[in-house]
Amino acid sequence: MQIAIDGPAGAGKSSVAKEVARRLGLKYLDTGAMYRSITLKALREGICLHNGTLLAEIARKCNLEIGYDEILGNRIFLDGKDITPEIRSPEINKHVSIVSKSPELRHELVLLQKRVAKKSSGIVMEGRDIGTKVLENANIKFYIFASLEERSRRRWKEMKAAGVVLPFNDVMKEIAMRDSIDEKRDVSPLTIARDAVVIDTTHYSQEEVIEKILNFIKDKSSKFDTRCLKNRTTDGV
Ligand code: C5P
Repeated sequence: MQIAIDGPAGAGKSSVAKEVARRLGLKYLDTGAMYRSITLKALREGICLHNGTLLAEIARKCNLEIGYDEILGNRIFLDGKDITPEIRSPEINKHVSIVSKSPELRHELVLLQKRVAKKSSGIVMEGRDIGTKVLENANIKFYIFASLEERSRRRWKEMKAAGVVLPFNDVMKEIAMRDSIDEKRDVSPLTIARDAVVIDTTHYSQEEVIEKILNFIKDKSSKFDTRCLKNRTTDGV
C-alpha cells in the first residue's frame, strides 16, 4: 500500500499523513524534512545554495536518519545528531525552496525516497512531487491545500507553540514566496497529479481531514478487493 500526499506549505500534510500512517499501521516519510536537512548542512558548511553538484554530494555523503520517539514524535538525525528543531527554523524556511530547485539534489533524494518505499511493506509519503514523481504508481494520491491566510495562521500557531513568535505577515510572505518557487521550478514543480483526490482543508479540522482521507482509502481498497475477486472468478482461479 503506497499513499502519496502532496500540497503547498502549511496545508497540514505532515500532521495528517503521520496520523493516517499510524492508524493504518504504515510507515511514514516526510520528504520535506530531507530537503530541510540538506539545506541546514549546506548553510552550516557555507556552500552556495545554487550549486547542485555540491548539494547532491552532501545528500550522497551525509548520514540522514529519520527515527521515531514515543514522546517526542518524529526525529531527524544528521550525521548522528538530532536536528529536528533546527530544520523548522525561519532560516531554513527562507532557504529550503532555493535548495530544492536543484535537479541534481532532487535526483539523489528521489532515489532515496523510492528506496525507502520499496523496502517498506506500506508507506504514507508526503511532499510536493510524491504523486507526480516519487510514487507515480501509488495506490492512492491526495493533494491537500487551504487558503494562504489559513495556512499562514496554522504555521504561525505552530511556530508560536515551538517558541518562535514572528509577525503574522512575515509568516504569510514566507509561505507565499515558498509556494511561488515550488510551483515555478523547472524540475518536479508542485502540481496536482492527474489522478489525485483534491481536498480543500480551509474549513476542516485536522481530524475531519484525517477521516476524509481514511474514508477514501477504505472506499478505494474495497473497490480494489472487489476487482480482484471478479478477476479471480473470470480467470477461474
Ligand atoms: O513540507 P515542507 O514544508 O517541510 O517542505 C519544505 C520544502 O522542501 C518545500 O517548500 C519544498 O521546497 C521542498 N520539498 C520539495 N519536494 C518535496 C518535499 C519538500 O521540493 N517532495
